[in-house]
Amino acid sequence: MKAAVLHEVNKPLVIEDVSLPKPGPREVLIRTAVAGLCHSDLHFMEGLYPHPLPAVLGHESAGVVEQVGSDVTYVKPGDHVVTCLSVFCGTCDNCTTGRPVLCTDTSVKMLPGASNRLSWARSEKLNQFLNLSSFAEQMLVHENAIVKIRKDMPLELAALIGCGVVTGYGAVVNTAKVAPGESVVVIGCGGVGMAAINGAQIAGAGRIIAVDTNPAKLQLATKLGATDIVDPRNGDVVQQVRDLTNGGVHHSFEVLGRKETAEQAFAMLAPGGTATIVGMIPFGQKIELHGFDFLRETKDPGFVDGLQPFPRRHAAAHRVLHARQAASRGLDFGEAETAGDQRGLCRHEGRQDGTQHHRV
Ligand SMILES: [Zn+2]
Ligand SMILES: [Zn+2]
Repeated sequence: MKAAVLHEVNKPLVIEDVSLPKPGPREVLIRTAVAGLCHSDLHFMEGLYPHPLPAVLGHESAGVVEQVGSDVTYVKPGDHVVTCLSVFCGTCDNCTTGRPVLCTDTSVKMLPGASNRLSWARSEKLNQFLNLSSFAEQMLVHENAIVKIRKDMPLELAALIGCGVVTGYGAVVNTAKVAPGESVVVIGCGGVGMAAINGAQIAGAGRIIAVDTNPAKLQLATKLGATDIVDPRNGDVVQQVRDLTNGGVHHSFEVLGRKETAEQAFAMLAPGGTATIVGMIPFGQKIELHGFDFLRETKDPGFVDGLQPFPRRHAAAHRVLHARQAASRGLDFGEAETAGDQRGLCRHEGRQDGTQHHRV
């Protein structure tokens, strides 16, 4: 099969012939239908986060099951699935206490460089990314890295649930547990930020403030649930949020992964408020917080992602798929080499009919 391989950071992906073995007892072989190009993939392509190379990136995907291992009962060939980047074992301490996103079983949730699933003609090891590697025509994954979906769900939309939607929605609903009536600010209105805004609306937040410098994104945010919009170009963003909310919000969500905005997320909290950092702040970058603010019971749960594995029969996620409206255009698989420039969609064989997609 073909896969888009990252050989070196800041270099184009290269289409290579690679192969996968037959599924092990609990593994599933998937024909990739659609893979989104997430900003997190770009972080690795640009070298802002380390990963053993060469590697096949890609993690926001959906496809069709082709083969299953001898012990797999959850899916069968022909089933449609969304991939999940937070694969879990289901039996470790974190899994059995309700936090499978923090699964510690490294035989299932393999660390970077540990997987031997991908191979090619060269002697050099080819690395799987996040136990998925969806910039390829097929994926071999653990059965706990997929969620079965209905066949009438368009796969190009389903792929978004695999990362962007569940990250934004999960940060609001699972991580921050926003309660009805609470005030929320979301800094950054890309695909993840839009899902956070929509998640806040579903959670019943009273005030939902969208922050972005792009007027079109701010307008779209109002359709997805934002009650107020703030453009940082109109002045100090912290002050603007404080003015709108009589002194600060209950919850802030930073979705850009930048030091400056992470610090702003904390500064715009009301006493007792919580900042949730969703964005991937570049590896090694520190953020600075004013110690005094902790006396007011403000909290920053650190890097708290929204990557909770969504419950297998959780129906709410589809409600945040208005992200479709944030559509840009799709790319053919052959265009993957320039994907980093176009920030569109890496669309794989067999799905040439659609047009969308979102991305940060
Ligand atoms: Zn992602
Ligand atoms: Zn576990």
